[in-house]
Amino acid sequence: MEILPEFELHQPDSVATAVKLGAQTGAKYLAGGTDLMPNLRHGLGDPISLIDVSGIADMQAIENTAMGLRIGASVTLQQLVTNPLVLANYSLLIEAANTIAGTTHRHHATVGGNLCLDTRCQYYNQSEWWRKSNSYCLKYKGDSCHVAPNGNVCRAAFSGDLAPAMLVHGAQVEIWSAKGGQRIIDLDDMYQDDGANSLLLKPGELLVAVLVKPLPTFNTGYRKVRVRGGLDFPLAGVAVAVQGRGNKLEQVMIALTGTDSRPILLKGCDDLCGKPLDDAALKALERLVRTQTKPMRSTFIPNQYRSKVAVNISRRLLLDLLMR
Ligand SMILES: Cc1cc2nc3c(=O)[nH]c(=O)nc-3n(C[C@H](O)[C@H](O)[C@H](O)COP(=O)(O)OP(=O)(O)OC[C@H]3O[C@@H](n4cnc5c(N)ncnc54)[C@H](O)[C@@H]3O)c2cc1C
Ligand code: SF4
Repeated sequence: MEILPEFELHQPDSVATAVKLGAQTGAKYLAGGTDLMPNLRHGLGDPISLIDVSGIADMQAIENTAMGLRIGASVTLQQLVTNPLVLANYSLLIEAANTIAGTTHRHHATVGGNLCLDTRCQYYNQSEWWRKSNSYCLKYKGDSCHVAPNGNVCRAAFSGDLAPAMLVHGAQVEIWSAKGGQRIIDLDDMYQDDGANSLLLKPGELLVAVLVKPLPTFNTGYRKVRVRGGLDFPLAGVAVAVQGRGNKLEQVMIALTGTDSRPILLKGCDDLCGKPLDDAALKALERLVRTQTKPMRSTFIPNQYRSKVAVNISRRLLLDLLMR
């Protein structure tokens, strides 16, 4: 670990002040800091100022609204999993959040920080010394990619566990900026498949809250595979919500993380519905996962293995939930 770079720390108490400060050149938002601070210590970034949004009251509440449950971006993962409104109707969010990092992290780590998590790669999440010895890479300070040397897009993996669960819940996000005020977009539209630029947020834009709708008639679940069972990022993670009768699927939503530079809300799931979940349907699900996800050599675990894992945990989780 290296010494932190010099930066100014601001601790605004309102969204309006935060976005004004966030609009300044070289500013970066800081929430729980459980990902950002280790990255800065590795020399990944050199912000002029950090805007700590963890003390803003409007970003700390969880409340029912006409648009669904509004979860402030600065709610910690521990607050999320113990909140009565979440406990009542959002077991999927709790299941996913409880797989993130370790207990002590979850007391600081926030919902917003998890959804805005930087992408990860075995050639990027390394010390400055290591990256310099390897001529850096496309994502930061370098000009070529070690994972896909002929490509010009970074393939680092988005590895946040909450995003697929939120996507299955039809999440929308409330985004604020100094110039544009507030806008609400689908969470799915906040991401793009570019590991160096996976968030479609303009400079200075702040994620203030997430809006989710309950899925009362669905069985839901989250499953992930990781190298260290106790505490680790997903090699692949999948969230499923399913409604069925007997072994027949009526409605299903599936979202994945850890496989690509953005979380994937699987398209074409409607084609699986109205028929039994038999071998043909499981094969069709495999095709959907294989064609819409593309793990690359961004972890030291082979990409073919991650691809198989994504297919198998999707199939097993769907079967388990339908039979529940
Ligand atoms: C040992 C270890 C294990 C981990 N395991 C996992 C894991 O299994 N799964 C997982 O998902 N994560 C894991 N993490 C990463 C991290 O702890 C979590 O993702 C956490 O939820 C990040 O939240 P944070 O509040 O600490 O974010 P921060 O580190 O404060 O910020 C993360 C990023 O989000 C941006 N940001 C924060 N808030 C906002 C906002 N409101 N609007 C716009 N941008 C914002 C920051 O600028 C930064 O780029 C792990 C980390 C460690 C150190
Ligand atoms: S995928 Fe390529 S450009 Fe992106 S972090 Fe890894 S090595 Fe760097």
